Amino acid sequence: MVDLKEGVKRVISPYKSLFGIKDVEEEKSEEVIERVVQSIEKEKSEEQKQAITKPYSFDKEDVIQFIGVTKRFGNNLVLNNISLGIPEGKILGLIGISGSGKSTILKLLIGFYRPNKGQILYNGKSIFKNSKDIRRTFGFSTQDNCFYGKLTVEENIRYFGELYGLTRQFIDNHIEEVLNLVQLNYVKDKLAENLSTGMQRRVDLACALIHDPKILILDEPTEDLDRMLRKEMLNLIHQINKRGTTVIITSHLLWEIEHLCDKIAIIHDTNIIEVGSPADIRNRYFKYDEIHLELASDNYDKIIRSFNKKDIKNIVRRHHRIIIYTSNPEKIIHSILDIAKKKKEKINHIELRKPNLDEIFEYLTKK
Ligand code: ADP
Ligand code: MG
Repeated sequence: MVDLKEGVKRVISPYKSLFGIKDVEEEKSEEVIERVVQSIEKEKSEEQKQAITKPYSFDKEDVIQFIGVTKRFGNNLVLNNISLGIPEGKILGLIGISGSGKSTILKLLIGFYRPNKGQILYNGKSIFKNSKDIRRTFGFSTQDNCFYGKLTVEENIRYFGELYGLTRQFIDNHIEEVLNLVQLNYVKDKLAENLSTGMQRRVDLACALIHDPKILILDEPTEDLDRMLRKEMLNLIHQINKRGTTVIITSHLLWEIEHLCDKIAIIHDTNIIEVGSPADIRNRYFKYDEIHLELASDNYDKIIRSFNKKDIKNIVRRHHRIIIYTSNPEKIIHSILDIAKKKKEKINHIELRKPNLDEIFEYLTKK
């Protein structure tokens, strides 16, 4: 984990010109970093105060609601009065460093733990008054493998189906579809313990899907997977969501799942310290995107003249390129392409750079 100063350094380094620093001016850079650190420090505590005191507003589409939920284990306060809405049909990402309470939130949701205070509602009804329904509607894949190594893939899925109280016929009708979905049909007769890690993760997923749940809950489904397998797993989750399943997924890696999620909640120090769409969160911290442009002619006057000044924060020349800092990147890119076409300008390079949410996460969850 980087310290705050290191985090700020990383965050602002691509933006040095915004702060009026040239690349070579190390001293000035230190001074600005110090100033930013101090102002963030102040803002952050105010935001945290607000997050704790302001009432949470739920959306119409929230199918699950955590309302003022507190959970402690003995003297260990894990969740302090958290509220969170989970929208139907969407993917919600719960992000937090290890030990921040992600698994606890999921276990509260399936009714495995009871909150010390507060309520958890599914479709407006308490999940505790509704536990049969919950079992039928929720699919849960835990952080550690839950399948049995000595059973085959198919036997595992059937076994879980029975635990969910499904009839033989229902399982017979659905097992093929589930095996195909997680791409395990060709190894269905193999013992689960003999499969690769990536396949074993998919066995777990299949076990959580056999009863065709409306809500799929996945606790760190990409942990221990290498890059390719992570990507495959995220694609699979995306596909499952597209079939209409609401997905709740946890991870300690924000960058990994930010593109997958419609809504993100960052948990830290017993609270939800940020919530919103990835774009919302990004915009709260970074007001400007960068467009890097290189024209073959090296002449940028015409293009720059075509911009509406109010969309532009700053334009910086770097070697043969210009970097445009803008609050309206889509409009600026359209305008660049338009002019280039009209004036027959050849574009060597054009790139939109969005600030990385992970840097915000590292900063927010600093110890
Ligand atoms: P995460 O999933 O984000 O890594 P957890 O929800 O597993 O975090 O744990 C959050 C905190 O709650 C940790 O301090 C952990 O030790 C504690 N905790 C979780 N489950 C239990 C339990 N059954 N008994 C006691 N403490 C627990
Ligand atoms: Mg966990």
